[in-house]
Amino acid sequence: MGADTAPPSLAERPGRTGASPFSASGTRQSGSETMTVVLDATRQTEAPRAAAAPASPSAAAGASTAGADRPSLIGLERPALAEALKAAGVPERQARMRASQIWQWIYHYGVTDFSAMTNIAKDSRAMLQERFTLARPELVAEQISSDGTRKWLLRFPPRGAGRPVEVETVYIPEVGRGTLCVSSQVGCTLTCSFCHTGTQTLVRNLTAEEIVAQILVARDRLGDHPGGRTPDGTMVPTEGGRLVSNIVMMGMGEPLYNFDHVKTALLIASDGEGIGLSRRRITLSTSGVVPMIARTGEEIGVMLAVSLHAANDATRDVLVPLNKKYPIATLLDACRAYPGLSNARRITFEYVMLKGVNDSPADARALVRLLRGIPAKINLIPFNPWPGSAYECSDWETIEKFADIVNEAGYASPIRTPRGRDILAACGQLKSETQRMRARERLALEAMVAGTDD
Ligand code: SAH
Ligand code: SF4
Repeated sequence: MGADTAPPSLAERPGRTGASPFSASGTRQSGSETMTVVLDATRQTEAPRAAAAPASPSAAAGASTAGADRPSLIGLERPALAEALKAAGVPERQARMRASQIWQWIYHYGVTDFSAMTNIAKDSRAMLQERFTLARPELVAEQISSDGTRKWLLRFPPRGAGRPVEVETVYIPEVGRGTLCVSSQVGCTLTCSFCHTGTQTLVRNLTAEEIVAQILVARDRLGDHPGGRTPDGTMVPTEGGRLVSNIVMMGMGEPLYNFDHVKTALLIASDGEGIGLSRRRITLSTSGVVPMIARTGEEIGVMLAVSLHAANDATRDVLVPLNKKYPIATLLDACRAYPGLSNARRITFEYVMLKGVNDSPADARALVRLLRGIPAKINLIPFNPWPGSAYECSDWETIEKFADIVNEAGYASPIRTPRGRDILAACGQLKSETQRMRARERLALEAMVAGTDD
């Protein structure tokens, strides 16, 4: 990773003495700008550590499988956390207070070890340690691109799926923010024809614990818990506070088909005493599960992104087959009624650019006509091809023409840099390129998360 290849405004955290935590089994691919590190849980070396956890590293993989036999306290809402404590013998009158303390340790300080919870009596800590775990999922691989994008491949237990499951979580640092792209399911029941995940059947939903764990692992690895140490040379935003400042539910899966777990996870993520992300900095992306859209606004209150991808039903039926059930007009009615919608809280419409399919000037004009009157942003996403996909990405000139029409209609420039020529990949196909992250991934990722906060 060299500072010379980084976007000028991203800062590299100053180097510190000592070997990189990734050097033990890391490899730098020749001719590539990506460093892939396959982590072997049995050979973990130093990893970022929360300052508040002096006794043991909060390394994602370091704490990986330990405690797999004990239930985790991660991913429980406050009342459920208090209940779990009561069931473990914490007296009723103490349970709420204890839950509050533990909540802060888990989510604000990011500790992975009960012994670090210094405001809890020693014997209580020992009891917690015996009964529960805060272990992270196994971190199988970490990829670091020269522009700072990071991918983590995480392995979760089978939970009825027959075998352990793997998902990817991606971190995209930009000047003023660091966005984490989080998965909600392993596979997907929907079959969008341009999406690689759509070719993989649903293995299972992720639990709230597993969704929240993706955020905690990212903070672990980036040293983003209070007092944490950021590894040498990490690209981070230069403005703003936390390194993970935004979340987009744009990884694998359809979040609104896993509503309860996603809801719990996002309420935890937006809790001010824990992970502490404003709901305006959390975006949920849906392919258009109309009946769940109002509940998303009412019960979770996060920003909404809608994968529109076409301005007429005939085309959208092919790209997003769910359109046959909830056609564009129905979808847009649900969008107009989205709780909290205003010019300050717009819906992001995602539009993947597919050569000869949805990318003509007429399509662009139809798109802006369709969205008239809805407080909206439009994100044009260069298609990220995958082996066997039936589509190609639109030519750059075509994308620019399309963008001009969208811009003239008053939407901010959705494609921001010419780097699009070089970039591949979108969260929708995260797992398929596990061993390599090409430089051209970046634009698709950046385009997807563009404008997902204000
Ligand atoms: N299931 C949800 C969220 C996950 S997909 C949804 O469909 O919205 C996140 C985004 O990636 C969606 O907008 C999806 O359409 C887009 N996407 C999927 N595959 C892609 C590809 N190959 N190239 C570009 N964008 C893609
Ligand atoms: Fe599922 Fe979203 Fe991919 Fe469609 S685009 S198959 S809903 S992950």
